[in-house]
Amino acid sequence: MAILSAASSLLPFSHGAKRLSTKASLASRTSGFNFYSLRNSPSCAPRLYVSRAVANNGGYTEISENETAPRTYTWPDKKRPRVCILGGGFGGLYTALRLESLVWPDDKKPQVVLVDQSERFVFKPMLYELLSGEVDVWEIAPRFSDLLTNTGIQFLRDRVKTLLPCDHFGVNGSESSVTGGTVLLESGFNIEYDWLVLALGAEPKLDVVPGAMEFALPFYNLEDAIRLNEKLSKLERKNFKDGSAIKVAVVGCGYGGVELAATISERLQDRGIVQAINVSNSILPSASNGNREAAMKVLNSRKVQLLLGYLVRCIKRAGDSESSEEDGGFLLELQPAERGLESQIIEADIVLWTIGSKPLLTELEPSGPNVLPLNVRGQAETDETLRVKGHPRIFALGDSSSLRESNGKLLPTTAQVAFQEADFTGWNIWAAINNRPLLPFRFQNLGEMMTLGRYDAAISPSFIEGLTLEGPVGHAARKLAYLIRLPTDEHRFKVGISWFAKSAVESIALLQSNLTKVLSTS
Ligand SMILES: Cc1cc2nc3c(=O)[nH]c(=O)nc-3n(C[C@H](O)[C@H](O)[C@H](O)COP(=O)(O)OP(=O)(O)OC[C@H]3O[C@@H](n4cnc5c(N)ncnc54)[C@H](O)[C@@H]3O)c2cc1C
Repeated sequence: MAILSAASSLLPFSHGAKRLSTKASLASRTSGFNFYSLRNSPSCAPRLYVSRAVANNGGYTEISENETAPRTYTWPDKKRPRVCILGGGFGGLYTALRLESLVWPDDKKPQVVLVDQSERFVFKPMLYELLSGEVDVWEIAPRFSDLLTNTGIQFLRDRVKTLLPCDHFGVNGSESSVTGGTVLLESGFNIEYDWLVLALGAEPKLDVVPGAMEFALPFYNLEDAIRLNEKLSKLERKNFKDGSAIKVAVVGCGYGGVELAATISERLQDRGIVQAINVSNSILPSASNGNREAAMKVLNSRKVQLLLGYLVRCIKRAGDSESSEEDGGFLLELQPAERGLESQIIEADIVLWTIGSKPLLTELEPSGPNVLPLNVRGQAETDETLRVKGHPRIFALGDSSSLRESNGKLLPTTAQVAFQEADFTGWNIWAAINNRPLLPFRFQNLGEMMTLGRYDAAISPSFIEGLTLEGPVGHAARKLAYLIRLPTDEHRFKVGISWFAKSAVESIALLQSNLTKVLSTS
């Protein structure tokens, strides 16, 4: 795999052209590629580019900030099909790996480039375990450069800006058009493709009530989890010094809200108060009864205060408006959504927002007359084969796409759906390239899983009606199920060893502390 950008992130912007050239030369030698993109952070860092051919003997190109050479991604092979995958989450990364695992006729094996704004794939269902200390970052958020080392997949760290498809029926020809279109990246590069996979996911929607954008924290990606962990650690240190209770408000009692409330209340124990707010008068309205009851038991045992039947009207800073965000707490004004309840104002040191998301496709710049068909939520509409309607060379999957099941219901935006869609997308690209019929996607609901803390979880498998695995058994089963779904055999193996070693150490520590207790009481 060519590391087109991960290596570049080692370079601070202030480095001079000479030093950059050396790095570019090194990168080109390892990658065999003739362009190199440099960026430190997806959104704000200044960038430099090398886009001229670099000799295979290790020669390099002098570059400067004013480099103006054409910035077109050069595919290594002129003949083989070019597949560009946007987004390296459950949809995108697993499609790339699926393409890699299929058997291809020699001249048809596609060249695959995977573009993501982040340098890491994030296994989002296990972000909670970063707060409980159960997992390390590398285990659930491995670098693309590590994951793709032994594959032919090229990784490019960049942010997608504009799509310029030219496969639209009636505009630029039919399915047999020579190219599928072009993607423009924020760095200025463009990638011409034959097949495009859209898997950009979604982002949290906080602009719903006044104050949420400014004061509430989302819990959606690795950065959110790290920031929350740091905030909790800071408050824990304060609590250690002055004994002040740590107050956490969780807005929303869907899966995300309940998993957060359970994880944080377990972490804080009697040092904190966790309040969870929900508009309906129950938690987990869409979950199975078994999961809901298991979650309710855990939340009650951890003294999580449930404020059910309330809407958050606004969030404000508490006390002195001059005090910095770091120091002050927040006030949440709650408005009853059910009869018989009274308005309330609650205080919190941390407000976590878990409601709503918006697909990222709407943020891409308009792409001329060949715009993609988006539904009201901003998801790309696909046909059953996961091709975007009217765009035979674009596949879309995961949170940024929409497909109705045969019963007319939209597929949920879950990792389970994206993971299964990736399998079909990979296969259907194979079929399209080899002129075979494409398969219609059928979602197979395998059930629901949720974490409820370090030794607790709830699982309701769909294939055994009424069964819910709870407590440590559910916890072990969930972890095993996720271990199996981690990307690449090599990563799974490393994580498996690591988790096994951690649980062995934990068991020994538990045994020791039990022995000490027994000995001290005898
Ligand atoms: C905290 C949390 C817990 C969850 N738990 C579960 C669970 O238990 N079970 C379950 O089934 N689902 C769960 N989900 C939902 C699940 O994670 C998503 O449905 C799934 O990740 C969707 O996959 P995706 O490929 O569409 O998007 P993602 O996995 O989000 O991947 C999108 C990728 O696109 C990249 N990207 C976005 N915009 C750009 C851009 N402009 N340029 C370049 N790159 C870009 C992002 O960096 C990201 O890597 C959870 C989600 C969260 C946030």
